[in-house]
Amino acid sequence: MFIAEKCDLCGDCFVKCQWMDVDRTQSVLWIKELIAGKNSEVLGKCLTCYACNEYCTRGANPFDQIAILQEKYHTLFPEETVAMMEQKYIFSGEIKNPPAADRIMSVCVFGKSDAHLIQGELYNLPQVSGKPYFCWIMFSHMGAASVQKKHAQEFVDRLAETGAKEIVCFHDDCYSMLAKIAPDYGIHVPFRPIHLAEYLVECLKANKGKITPLNIDIAYNRPCASRFTPEKEHFIDEIFKITGVNRVKRVYDRENALCCAGSKLLLGKGDPKPDQEKNFKDANDAGAKAMVCLCPICMHSFSVTAAEMKLPLIFLGDIARMALGELECSL
Ligand code: SF4
Ligand code: SF4
Repeated sequence: MFIAEKCDLCGDCFVKCQWMDVDRTQSVLWIKELIAGKNSEVLGKCLTCYACNEYCTRGANPFDQIAILQEKYHTLFPEETVAMMEQKYIFSGEIKNPPAADRIMSVCVFGKSDAHLIQGELYNLPQVSGKPYFCWIMFSHMGAASVQKKHAQEFVDRLAETGAKEIVCFHDDCYSMLAKIAPDYGIHVPFRPIHLAEYLVECLKANKGKITPLNIDIAYNRPCASRFTPEKEHFIDEIFKITGVNRVKRVYDRENALCCAGSKLLLGKGDPKPDQEKNFKDANDAGAKAMVCLCPICMHSFSVTAAEMKLPLIFLGDIARMALGELECSL
């Protein structure tokens, strides 16, 4: 939620933005326009990467105001397109036999499209998946923040209906919705959301005796939704430490991460490839032998660039599976 009172007009948010070249004077002008609710030029330039919410150390959350105004001024998509997309994701059927367990995993909409990433002992717990469990964050990439807000309660309610005390979120976006965005909307989340990285750390520690250190240098690609919940980042580092993986130091990591640039395609704002190449070159230059991704969408978005730049993509969960001997490490 944008909190204008916290903004001291420092201008850091758009000066740091990796998708526009802006000086401080321009940035301050734009933030003033956003506070006034105006149709600022920044609305059209924003790639919806969420990063400025993290860049703002005062907790004002400037992207949240961008999202609201992008919708007000129909900056990104016409209303009809948003309505059509909303219909596509609405679930109106009946949920048959939801699992009953104290802990379940929600695999979002990846149960079918990315089933190969959700295999093996690590994922041997009751799961829910598909449209009823879609977290709706995608709509803030479309300049339709109200659609995300409208469906947040039903997302929480459907998960709560399982009766689980803990929900492991396979997708970073779902965790962000449950741990940050829904509570910001004033929605009570009656179970503990667990990030995939926290869950993997727990599994690895429980199977310590089975771990063979991988001894590989990798680059980590931090996805856009991680901007909402940076406090869980230490679990990512713990996974790498436990599995003997070295996260190389490079320019586009941690707060300075470049997202997969997939929203360029979604928003019709040009070719994401040059940005992806910049990201992969940075990883190659730092000596990485693979690019590790937390988000399946990043993996899809990167597939061509990764092949061309000869840097294999590895899903974060597969790092754990490799260390446990479930998957072969071919690096
Ligand atoms: S939103 Fe945050 S980073 Fe941006 S100008 Fe205000 S205080 Fe500075
Ligand atoms: S959300 Fe990303 S692209 Fe948009 S203004 Fe903020 S940092 Fe820039």
